[in-house]
Amino acid sequence: MRLQFLGACRTVTGSSHLLEINGKQILLDCGMYQGRRDEARQFNEWVPDVVRDVDAIILSHGHLDHCGKLPVLTRSGLNIPIYCTEATADVARVVMLDAGEIQQEDAEHLNRRDRRPGEPEFRPLYTTSDVHQTMRLINPVRYGQSIDIGGAKITLFDAGHILGSGYVTVEWQERNTPRSLLFTADIGRVQSPIIRDPAPLNGAFDYVITESTYGGRTHGPIAEIEPQLLDAVQSTIQRRSRLIVPSFALGRTQTVLWYMHKFMKEQKIPPINVYVDSPMGSEMTEVHEKLRDYYDDETAQLIGKEDLFADKRITLASSSAQSRQINSDRGPCVIIASSPTCEFGRVLHHLERSLENRNDTILFVGFTPYNTLGRRLQDGSKRVRVFNRFYNVAAEVRTIHGLSAHADGQELAAFLAPTCKPGTQAFVVHGEVDQAETVGRTLVERGMGRAAVPALETTFIA
Ligand SMILES: [Zn+2]
Ligand SMILES: [Zn+2]
Repeated sequence: MRLQFLGACRTVTGSSHLLEINGKQILLDCGMYQGRRDEARQFNEWVPDVVRDVDAIILSHGHLDHCGKLPVLTRSGLNIPIYCTEATADVARVVMLDAGEIQQEDAEHLNRRDRRPGEPEFRPLYTTSDVHQTMRLINPVRYGQSIDIGGAKITLFDAGHILGSGYVTVEWQERNTPRSLLFTADIGRVQSPIIRDPAPLNGAFDYVITESTYGGRTHGPIAEIEPQLLDAVQSTIQRRSRLIVPSFALGRTQTVLWYMHKFMKEQKIPPINVYVDSPMGSEMTEVHEKLRDYYDDETAQLIGKEDLFADKRITLASSSAQSRQINSDRGPCVIIASSPTCEFGRVLHHLERSLENRNDTILFVGFTPYNTLGRRLQDGSKRVRVFNRFYNVAAEVRTIHGLSAHADGQELAAFLAPTCKPGTQAFVVHGEVDQAETVGRTLVERGMGRAAVPALETTFIA
């Protein structure tokens, strides 16, 4: 067995690891690096020579940092099967098409603005037609259904992270000894709405590649989300005002909608208008609507024979005309719009209208990075700029923590407990160095043999 780390090393994004077993090359994820523009371009264009001989790709889930570089490989001529769940295929298609469109627009913009006469044209990293080509290589598999690659048995199990997400187990024989490897990819929180909990591990593995995104953090309890969200919606109804929720298009948007569906169904609130104002958020919601087989029992019971997001009060908007119409609704209403950082996206138009209104509420559903408008609002700034105008912030700003798609440190350790054994070697990836090192220490304290935080391109040979 040979393992080479080709991404998400001492950082969160760009997940990709190459596994060689009995002469077969298996690529685990092929994610995009999201960071400084020049660094990102360099990493994302890079197709390591070793990857050109890959026999198959296993895709854990549809987040850009796991699937976003697949079209770069197909564009470079790679023509091999990609295995993932059916839901991941649907989610990844929307995510990659969006990325392809952004890259095409970026290249056009650079060509208009920066290119001097006679210089070669900026080329997009890939285009939507490369994405369509990638989709042709996808072979959907079910959770628990094993695929055989040169004698290695590879299986995806529910990771409870986003719709369709999986962790990967690999089992093989080495000189007549059974060997096994676990790749956690991204592990979700227990009791997250809509999706199932991470499937428990049923034993120890020889090797573990684990994420560590929030390895040193503790999230708020999931049970506190519902009363906090309900309180924000109820005060919006009382004040006949607007509740603006800046949100990721995938995951967080559908979770907030799930709660809204639940509140209306359980008559905790009267029916009110709920809008998703984001083309990608609306498309992702439709993907969630269709894939009922992936829902947890609580969601299946909640909706019965209905559709999860089909309430006539819920509007999934994509056109800019619809967006303007939403902006004219004075309330009471809930507007879920991207982006979560408030740095771009349609949420800006809604903020322009709501920031100076003391009856309206801006509700953040997660941490926002430093140096973003979202963070300034969360930190209590009373005067902020949107587009080219300054606004005095009179609206109420609230934050709900705990709506994370990732397990925190304790939850991750609890998930990995069955494999915290002296014979296990762990590799901690997908986290900043401090988070990764914390996870490594915790695992060793709990009985795991060894835990390393590998650097990019490091190779481990067993
Ligand atoms: Zn993810
Ligand atoms: Zn990830």
